[in-house]
Amino acid sequence: QLILVTGASGFVATHIIDVFLRSGFLIRGTVRSYDKAEKVSQAFPEYVRDGRLTFTIVRDISSFNAFDEAVKDVTGIIHTATPFQMQVENNERDLLIPAIEGTKNILRSINENVPNLRRLVLISSFASIIDLSKGNRPDYVYSEKDWNPMSYQEAAKKGTSGAEAYCAAKALAEREAWDFVKRECPSWDLTTICPPMVYGPNKNATTDLAHLNTSSADIYRLMSPTSKPSDPMPANDFWAWVDVRDVADAHLKAYELPEAGGQRFFVAEGNFSYQMIADILRERLPEVRERVPIGMPQSGLGNVEVYGVDNSKSKQLLGIKYRTLQNSVLDAAQSLLELERRE
Ligand code: NDP
Repeated sequence: QLILVTGASGFVATHIIDVFLRSGFLIRGTVRSYDKAEKVSQAFPEYVRDGRLTFTIVRDISSFNAFDEAVKDVTGIIHTATPFQMQVENNERDLLIPAIEGTKNILRSINENVPNLRRLVLISSFASIIDLSKGNRPDYVYSEKDWNPMSYQEAAKKGTSGAEAYCAAKALAEREAWDFVKRECPSWDLTTICPPMVYGPNKNATTDLAHLNTSSADIYRLMSPTSKPSDPMPANDFWAWVDVRDVADAHLKAYELPEAGGQRFFVAEGNFSYQMIADILRERLPEVRERVPIGMPQSGLGNVEVYGVDNSKSKQLLGIKYRTLQNSVLDAAQSLLELERRE
């Protein structure tokens, strides 16, 4: 079976491609340039050699016919391509339009070009679940039934932060997909995966330390050569996390399991704080101890009470067994040190 993975040069997509290839699927990845295709290939040389991993160029997901060629003859699609940045110049141009139009374009392309598609798995986010106006929301447990309520107009207006606009863009894009399925009743079905902050090893061969994806940069700033033990501990914007390998597994299960069709999954391990990440780095990785902020060791989430996460549906239906924060952070850190050694 040929699976299209959009945004193949991404941090999460690299792991998704890895698990699908290892499970015997053929993969066509979309990338923005030949140069990126070349670099992604370096992570999977044997699969490129025997033609099990190929690429197609999609320069901008926002352009109307962006996916018409890419979707031809595929049996499944994993749509990950979206700008994931929290600091942008223009919320509408840089976040809302590509996320929403990219989703609309792939939905239209499917209907026009691949009537026999089996399933579209869309990576959404905890961003599309959380209601940021409610703050840390102690005593509340987020689950698949929750939706970020921010409107397009609110997200686009001046004064709305990039983080708020990114979250709204993810929610509005996911809603487009569910509304499309409801309206058009296609023969294929839709599954969405909503992860919070995704940590773990960075296998993305297109990246370097200056251009890390947002969540890898989140860890690297706690252990980079410019950080030090007396630095203040960064404040959490989000309090939930998951390992990238578990997110990739969730996509595979979401594609394979018949009962996952038509379902939304909150794929999250649990709560975390940057203090907890710093404690792990300082205790378990002597190599970086003198770079990592000390903060208030072992204070966990600190003096704040925060929302909980309900991951029971992902465990029951997809069978996900979540990796621990320690395992994820240490593997992330090792991969970042490896990038340091290569530069
Ligand atoms: P990356 O930035 O590593 O990957 C994003 C991918 O999307 C890249 O391949 C990028 O291409 C591509 N892309 C972005 N904008 C466009 C565009 N306008 N046209 C074509 N391609 C585009 O991010 P992640 O791997 O972290 O994120 C992947 C997905 O997972 C996103 O949808 C994100 O919202 C979601 N997600 C991520 C989380 C995380 O913590 N990492 C948490 C929850 C959800 P290029 O390499 O050329 O820039």
